[in-house]
Amino acid sequence: MSDYRIETKCIQSGYTPKNGEPRIVPIVQSTTFKYDDSDEMGQLFDLEKSGYFYTRLQNPTNDAVAAKICDLEGGVAAMLTSSGQAANFYAIMNIAEAGDHIICSSAVYGGTYNLYAHTIRKMGIQATFVDPDCTEEELNAAFQENTKAVVGETIANPALTVLDIEKFAKAAHAHGVPLIVDNTFATPINCRPFEWGADIVTHSTTKYMDGHAACVGGAIVDSGNFDWEKYADKFPGLTTPDETYHGLVYTERFGKGAYITKATAQMMRDLGSIQSPQNAFLLNLGLETLHLRMPRHCENALKAAQYLQAHEKVAWVNCPDLEGDKYHELAKKYLPNGSCGVITFGLKGGRDAAVRMMDFLKMIAIVTHVADARSCVLHPASHTHRQMNEQELLEAGVQPDLIRFSVGLENIEDIIADLQQALEEV
Ligand SMILES: *Cc1c(COP(=O)(O)O)cnc(C)c1O
Repeated sequence: MSDYRIETKCIQSGYTPKNGEPRIVPIVQSTTFKYDDSDEMGQLFDLEKSGYFYTRLQNPTNDAVAAKICDLEGGVAAMLTSSGQAANFYAIMNIAEAGDHIICSSAVYGGTYNLYAHTIRKMGIQATFVDPDCTEEELNAAFQENTKAVVGETIANPALTVLDIEKFAKAAHAHGVPLIVDNTFATPINCRPFEWGADIVTHSTTKYMDGHAACVGGAIVDSGNFDWEKYADKFPGLTTPDETYHGLVYTERFGKGAYITKATAQMMRDLGSIQSPQNAFLLNLGLETLHLRMPRHCENALKAAQYLQAHEKVAWVNCPDLEGDKYHELAKKYLPNGSCGVITFGLKGGRDAAVRMMDFLKMIAIVTHVADARSCVLHPASHTHRQMNEQELLEAGVQPDLIRFSVGLENIEDIIADLQQALEEV
């Protein structure tokens, strides 16, 4: 499958029916699987044999869709989770525990910031947040003896900073830890972080992958490139016996599949944030057109950004594809075919004008979402990021007047007409 081009992978990867089997991936709506032989079931529980026995651990529909995402990213193994939050939680908990430390770009999704700054801290894992534009020296200075991972977003939601993946990968590898990249906004159509040195990729599949605002979901993909055994003392969970599986050692038994197998066999077994097979089926329908939708999202977003930039009431616009944008050079390197459909802007009238303008929009709706077919707006300072104080907002790259605008797949003339009439009103 991996020799096909990405457009073909969107459609064909993950599921190849045999003679007489369903043409499209079936929804295996079953919690459990039947066996004739009690011993065989025992071997499944011991991870001695691979097979299905309980959907909390694995389900054929989910596995087919995970395999497609794996192929799109160019990884070796992948799993679906119930949400992007669960993916980013498991990605860390799979390799860190109480007493450990991680480094995270300060420009990340608000939910990820809360998860790493507050929730995992209560579990004993500390996070240091670094400016994504920091120098190599500043980045290197953030590492500690107990650092277990470095995390960033290819295109940050909603700061729209573009991560210098090579710079982050180099620092992570120099300190013997993996780089985890949340590739939600770029999708593997526009960027494949493994090609730039990232080791693990996470997704909120809720966004462009689903693309229709139908299902919350997430995914974790492993490149198979990180050498856990080389840094065995840092990652005992992968390189020493797991007593809950009779002393099995993940790296010995599963090689390049160690990270995802452990995440399934331990994290999913114990925490249970599975994606429902029904949702995985819908996600797969989204994936089949991802390669058609992403270029149109980018094209519409750039046109909307150019329109806003030229408008007298608009103070500033962020869009990495826009000539002169602070991240344009990084975008040209990492996202040569376009970044994503999300842009941000502020009005000369400030925070109040921003909130009022949103109320005047007719087609473009105010919703807590981004990255689906319908254009929508959100004011992060009053919505997604409202838990943050002014300082935290600025560190996360969220100006108080920032409107996050997810440009959809409607005709761009209609999108611009709606912006125009709303801007006239404020
Ligand atoms: C939305 C989002 C998440 C969280 O995903 P959910 O599916 O909403 O849990 C994580 N990372 C990024 C970049 C996101 O945009």
